[in-house]
Amino acid sequence: MQTYFIELSYLLASVLFILGLKGLSHPETAKRGMHLAEFGMLMAIIGTLMHHEIITYTWILSGLVVGSIVGLAMGFWVPMTAMPQRTALSHAFGAFAAALVGISEYLRHDGKIDKITMSALGFEVMLGALTTTGSLLAFVKLQGLVRGTPVTFKGQNVFNMALLLTTIGIFIYLIVVPGSLPLFFVMVGLALVFGLLLVMPIGSADMPVVMSLLNSYAGLASAATGFVLNNKVLIIAGTLDGFSGFILSVLMCRAMNRSITNVLFGAFGSADTAAASGMQQGVMREVSLEDIATQLAYARQVVFVPGYGMATAQAQHAVRELANTLEKRGVTVKYGIHPVAGRMPGHMNVLLAEANVPYSSLYELEQINPEFPNTDVAVVIGANDVVNPDARDNPNSPIAGMPILEVDHAKSVVVLKRGQGKGFSGLENPLFFKDVTGMLYGDAKDTLTRMIQAVQQA
Ligand code: NAP
Repeated sequence: MQTYFIELSYLLASVLFILGLKGLSHPETAKRGMHLAEFGMLMAIIGTLMHHEIITYTWILSGLVVGSIVGLAMGFWVPMTAMPQRTALSHAFGAFAAALVGISEYLRHDGKIDKITMSALGFEVMLGALTTTGSLLAFVKLQGLVRGTPVTFKGQNVFNMALLLTTIGIFIYLIVVPGSLPLFFVMVGLALVFGLLLVMPIGSADMPVVMSLLNSYAGLASAATGFVLNNKVLIIAGTLDGFSGFILSVLMCRAMNRSITNVLFGAFGSADTAAASGMQQGVMREVSLEDIATQLAYARQVVFVPGYGMATAQAQHAVRELANTLEKRGVTVKYGIHPVAGRMPGHMNVLLAEANVPYSSLYELEQINPEFPNTDVAVVIGANDVVNPDARDNPNSPIAGMPILEVDHAKSVVVLKRGQGKGFSGLENPLFFKDVTGMLYGDAKDTLTRMIQAVQQA
């Protein structure tokens, strides 16, 4: 009866995870998807708690209480802008748990393990260990505790590859001769070091791609744990996590027109890549708030293009309020959303949804680009790289080929940013020097708040 209940709850959990993932693939169903996945996790926990091998609940309940307190506190107090580093920390914990389960299973069996179990166990410990340190380094870089720029040294890729091959070599040896305890811990140690070396040459802004790759590793480590523990829900959830993380990394790379190998080994964002853009000639034209307010108030169509600066300024509510004010005056307002605007997938969608911007007003790159020639004013709110025309016009640019929002085709462009700061790529943006563009300096939230009043008075 007990086994029947466990199997049933695991089956339900697996179905809910799949439905949850499906829901997450669209902004309108994302919230429901999240709730389904949460419910699935609850079923998986209940099923696991029924396991007959559990001798005492003391440690499990202590873990549940501590974990719930930490999770609730993170949910309440971590701001949306800190979501990438929060995710990095969660991956580190998850991967560390997988590695610890693998190590304890190895020690429990005293090295007397059959080849198939040892393959899964070694895979789990190796991936778990490298994901732990890799994610922790991603966290400290993203949190700004250490410099976010890539750290490189001569022969780095060769050294990293040699280290990885040695680790894999020991892993294969252990499958054949599983009883060698010291070698097992050498493999763990090398994997921990490799995790750090893997993330060291990657800049903060490429970190979301790496995070989703590490997420993929953590998922595969959990799937391997499932094989070791003969736990079906871990195998299914781990595999889903592993492959969805990998697909997400590929999609993000595609939206930046970069390959995974370029992200991992290209040290993007270092002084060299920034210098490759060269100097931009000309001057940036500053415009007054009143001029822009008049343009907006009498426009037929306005397109807002949000970027990372909107997230740091937390300006999404002010954007929505300005849109309301304009719509009341009969202006058509649309939002152009670039797939990699901000610092994580769906960053802009989440922020605008939080400000109750209707999903029907959000337009993807392919939908909004043909609309720019008929747009009176394109308002760029803290976006930079995603509107950089060099990606389209300059084949020598490091971001050449990256699809962009073609705001420079609008009749007029207003860029809201604090000063002359560059985007994540560190490149100069020729858009800011074009005749069609006017610069309005200041924190985006502050500028937008003042703009709402100016439009009301226009
Ligand atoms: P961006 O290129 O990073 O530019 C952001 C701009 O916002 C900066 O130029 C900055 O200029 C301005 N800014 C910062 N704080 C501001 C504030 N409080 N008020 C007003 N402006 C502010 O941003 P993006 O155009 O969104 O491009 C995203 C970049 O991240 C892309 O290169 C993309 O490839 C990369 N990336 C994204 C993802 C993802 O999943 N979304 C993943 C990996 C990489 P000032 O300093 O002058 O204000």
